Amino acid sequence: MSEGRVLLVTGGSRGIGAAVCLAAASEGWRVAINYASNRQAAEEVARRISEAGGSAIAVEGDVGSENGVRAIFAAVDAAFGRLDGLVNNAGIVGPPQRIDEISPERLERMFRINVTGAIRCAAEAVLRMSTRHGGKGGVVVNLSSAAAVLGSAGQYVDYAATKGAIDSFTIGLAREVAAEGIRVNAVRPGIIDTDIHASGGLPDRARQMASSIPMQRPGTAGEVADAILYLLSDKATYVTGAILSVSGGR
Ligand code: NAP
Repeated sequence: MSEGRVLLVTGGSRGIGAAVCLAAASEGWRVAINYASNRQAAEEVARRISEAGGSAIAVEGDVGSENGVRAIFAAVDAAFGRLDGLVNNAGIVGPPQRIDEISPERLERMFRINVTGAIRCAAEAVLRMSTRHGGKGGVVVNLSSAAAVLGSAGQYVDYAATKGAIDSFTIGLAREVAAEGIRVNAVRPGIIDTDIHASGGLPDRARQMASSIPMQRPGTAGEVADAILYLLSDKATYVTGAILSVSGGR
């Protein structure tokens, strides 16, 4: 169990992040549920956790802006005064576009949220968790994607490249802070049934891709959350720098 430990989940209001918040709370974590704009969804996750006897707060902040990152961590500091885990889950896709259609503005935003946001949040977490900085250690889980190794040709090679960056960052950060009490791992989901596909203009993508998945179905947010909870847990005390596929064989 994780009684009293504090977990920050970026993008915890919906999809995989919300499933992580609910599962972590049920295992005793106190949870900071970050969201970008959907306050109602974040507060609903917090309400469900409170009703089940857990402790949670909703925290507004855009991980793709420095002010947003600072606001998120200031809110966690004020509410809990400690941090033991970070799930770098906030992420975006774009509508399917070829490389010759992808605008510089889209590219910059994709990297700012998916890569810079995750790295900045990890840096703030390390400042609070590393024994080098007087912390008690902790754990980071990053959200990669099967796209990192498949490349997403014709759909969103920019998104795939952001997830490749997350893989490299996971390996490097894991080695950098391994002796400071912090484990760093990633999960690499395949096609998971969440709103992200609609946000990229393909609401039926998960269902339509089912026949291309060896297990013949998309995964659920809860199935990804289970893998993340394992990496957060004391069942994974010797696991760092790992990238765990949760993809039905894809
Ligand atoms: P989702 O359903 O679209 O939810 C996205 C979450 O991220 C929401 O809580 C959203 O907050 C938040 N968010 C978006 N931009 C943000 C920002 N700039 N700052 C803070 N929060 C932000 O996504 P999902 O499918 O659960 O995906 C979660 C992660 O898994 C992403 O990193 C994604 O790349 C990765 N992944 C997903 C799949 C899949 O098939 N679903 C596959 C592989 C990897 P609001 O509610 O405020 O909008």
